Amino acid sequence: MGINFKNSQNNDQYRLSIQAYCRPFKQPLHTHHGVWRDRQGIWIQLCPIDEEESNDRGWGEIAPLPGFGSESVTEALQFCQSFGGQITDEQIRSIPDRFPACQFGFESALIDLHNWEAPPNLTQVCGLLPTGKAALDLQLPIWNQGYQTLKWKIAVAEISQELNDFQDLLSMLPDGIKVRLDANGGLTETQAHQWLQACADRPVEFLEQPLGISEFEAMLALSQEYPTPLALDESIATWQQFLNCYHAGWPGVMVVKPAILGFPSRLIEFCQADRVDMVLSSVFETAIARKMLLRLAATLNLQRALGLGTDCWFED
Ligand SMILES: [Mg+2]
Repeated sequence: MGINFKNSQNNDQYRLSIQAYCRPFKQPLHTHHGVWRDRQGIWIQLCPIDEEESNDRGWGEIAPLPGFGSESVTEALQFCQSFGGQITDEQIRSIPDRFPACQFGFESALIDLHNWEAPPNLTQVCGLLPTGKAALDLQLPIWNQGYQTLKWKIAVAEISQELNDFQDLLSMLPDGIKVRLDANGGLTETQAHQWLQACADRPVEFLEQPLGISEFEAMLALSQEYPTPLALDESIATWQQFLNCYHAGWPGVMVVKPAILGFPSRLIEFCQADRVDMVLSSVFETAIARKMLLRLAATLNLQRALGLGTDCWFED
């Protein structure tokens, strides 16, 4: 199933409705970047002005991640409000690159308006384990939800402790299940070597962003030294960074967060021309952006499990 862009060259006008939201996490999410307690974003709705009697509505979601180079929620909200409740195709196509989450949200809403099919149900989704020792509890629902891939955040506690917990985690892991390790750029080079030695020949799908974004060359070297693939995430948060790393010859996986990467159509066009070993990842957005992610995953025909296993982190 592809995405229908057939109306993308029009210059139709739409009534624009905006609704800001704030969803608390059930439990705060601990990553190397710190503690995250709630998810704030904006839902937008487009309704064609010359068809207001019809029920045609397109929903989109703006879910910024300013720590990753996107606009802030406040900037996105001001930007949305600047249109005075009305927007055209041309204005959507002209959203500047400094508003990547708005580019995603508005184009998603247009796509939603012109695509009637529901996105497919994908079984290939990666679950997210709680960080640290908390993951080592087989009573947790996450262990019994049929995930083939489970993600575990590392570089949060002391490394010797984490490496011990990692051995316990591996010993609990059912046959055929793989783990993705995500360091969020929090390891030193020495620690990255320690982790990659511990990962070799174990059921580890990849190690994500071992080093900081300024250490691309070191990650490139590491990727050639060990059998476990490396993935870039923080390093490719913006479209320009994604292009830079791709063209610098990154041989590993690229974890793409479409909600902050800008126009979905640009990503699709790029992937049609160039082969990318890609994982689509959520930024803890809600069902509206997730619908777009599922559409993208189906269009791009991705082989790796999606990083969407985030439902159980919200109250509703
Ligand atoms: Mg990551």
